[in-house]
Amino acid sequence: MKQLPLVFEAPKRGKPPKHWFDLDIDERREAVVAMGLPKFRADQISRQVFDRLEDDAEQFTDLPAAIRGELGEQLFPNLLTHVQQQTADAGRTVKTLWRLHDATLLESVLMRYPSRSTLCISSQAGCGMACPFCATGQGGLKRNLSQAEITAQVLAADQALASGAIPGTTGRLNNIVFMGMGEPLANYNAVLGAIRTMLEPSPNGFGMSARGITVSTVGLVPRIQQLMDEGLPLTLALSLHAPVDELRDELVPINTRWPVDEVVDAVWNYAEKTKRRVSIEYAMMRDINDSVEQAEELARLLKRRGDWGWVHVNLIPLNPTPGSKWTASRKSDERAFIDTLERRGVPVTLRDTRGSEIDGACGQLAAAAV
Ligand code: SAH
Repeated sequence: MKQLPLVFEAPKRGKPPKHWFDLDIDERREAVVAMGLPKFRADQISRQVFDRLEDDAEQFTDLPAAIRGELGEQLFPNLLTHVQQQTADAGRTVKTLWRLHDATLLESVLMRYPSRSTLCISSQAGCGMACPFCATGQGGLKRNLSQAEITAQVLAADQALASGAIPGTTGRLNNIVFMGMGEPLANYNAVLGAIRTMLEPSPNGFGMSARGITVSTVGLVPRIQQLMDEGLPLTLALSLHAPVDELRDELVPINTRWPVDEVVDAVWNYAEKTKRRVSIEYAMMRDINDSVEQAEELARLLKRRGDWGWVHVNLIPLNPTPGSKWTASRKSDERAFIDTLERRGVPVTLRDTRGSEIDGACGQLAAAAV
């Protein structure tokens, strides 16, 4: 594939171009009326996009040919330009590097499992949370993604699945995880808007289930409360990584603003209100947070709030980032940590490391390779 001269291209100023994916159902109707079309055209267009996965307005063959050009220009600008793709796991993990209208880069990772497929998407270009073990965190925040730029990642993945490009399947996406680049709750409105489009049934959205969508956060407490009040049974994941403030202040710097106790209370409330089990993410770092004492501390922290039913610990083997002093735990320490949690009755799983050899696993998305 031809490589574009990315990093040398001066970013265009201004917001990402307006797209159908930025609009809710009423706004789509208003937009077609503003173009001199009857309202019903909005549903017709959405059917093309969400049912047929077609986003080239010239191909909207049930619309008058004369208006397709203008429609394309005004509401279907190209948002994501495919730059590069890497595959792993026999083609079942695909990392795609995209270029945005202003030359900003971003990545998403599609993972196919025997009976489902999961897309790991980005909510921001870069990230402002500065977690020192995370590759994205090292580059800082470039900018928020627009609602449409988030949604466009989903359409692109569904198109890839439908085209048969991923071995073994032609179905639709089942799961979305906001575990790519960025802190989703720091770009709240765009993320929620994109989620609403994912949830909206045909013809106005992708018709996904809220349970299949996971929002992963460093723990912005007021935003967790806001998310809870949306009344959507989304799955929430909290990147905890340490059971005590002193260590978490270092690993997840926003902890100095919303410390361990507050953040664990917030996700507990989220779980109670939504009846959804919250996932506690814990990246295992050698000799940093992986001792048996720390596992005991973690069990105590989570147990303080009562029954286990609401929580699930998800251990992530650390994917070391170049130049960082942190590295993955020894297998024996990992085992002892898991055994300790299990002895205390804490539900715990060890995450697989899909895509790690193509720098496509958790915390590896940096889009700096080009
Ligand atoms: N900002 C959000 C979502 C993006 S990161 C968050 O922090 O939750 C998705 C997950 O990958 C988070 O749990 C994050 O802590 C974890 N992660 C980051 N860097 C990692 C690394 N180098 N190895 C393993 N997991 C990492």
